Amino acid sequence: MTNIEIISKIKDLNGFVNKYKKLLSIKEDIELRSSTQPGDTSIVCDCNNKKWILIYFPDDPIFLLIHELGHLHLAMITKCVYFAKQPNSNINRGIFQFVNTIVDAIVNYKISRFDKIYPFFINYIETVFNATKGGINIVNMPFPLSHYIDYYLELKFYFKKSELESLKPKIERFLKDYENQLILNRILDGKKLSLIKDSLEKLSEYLDSAESSTFIYCITKILKIIKMWSNGLINKNIKNIFQK
Ligand SMILES: [Zn+2]
Repeated sequence: MTNIEIISKIKDLNGFVNKYKKLLSIKEDIELRSSTQPGDTSIVCDCNNKKWILIYFPDDPIFLLIHELGHLHLAMITKCVYFAKQPNSNINRGIFQFVNTIVDAIVNYKISRFDKIYPFFINYIETVFNATKGGINIVNMPFPLSHYIDYYLELKFYFKKSELESLKPKIERFLKDYENQLILNRILDGKKLSLIKDSLEKLSEYLDSAESSTFIYCITKILKIIKMWSNGLINKNIKNIFQK
């Protein structure tokens, strides 16, 4: 795509953004900007100008664009802006990566409850399945376990019955393949894996909640089960990320 093509596609997308902003009851001002990098889609607060900048690469799945709006939706329903806003103080990179991916999973749950968004969610998961047809390779991922957590929640708890049945073989194959990779690469053992799964089952029971403290509690608990950092470091970082 040329730069001009990107700009004109972004202009077309303004109407799309406004439509989904309305659906998700988002009142904030949002400026849409294009990115030239695939996978660069993100939302950042331009707090001085009281607006948000939504950066989108036009070839990324459209679900990723709606996902960024979903951060503002989650911030609105929980009255906690830190589900959308990046922390500015010194945060442990690994802890933030895990917090961020679990928040992403919560965002995706909330937005995929909307009938108009659910088909985009299915489409996004199909692109994940297609991209990993030849097998999952986690070797070059900085924190592969964080993405596993994200996929586990999304694949297990977000689909309606019909998709859950039709996609069941793909879901099972994907998770099993991912788990084997995590164990083979010594990122965890079977015991820790089952503890993590238990904590994700627990979180799944609270996905309909609108309480920020419930989500922050679940996230903290998962981090402590992963045991990559001391509990003190986890508590301190959680406090800084959510300003609580
Ligand atoms: Zn996100």
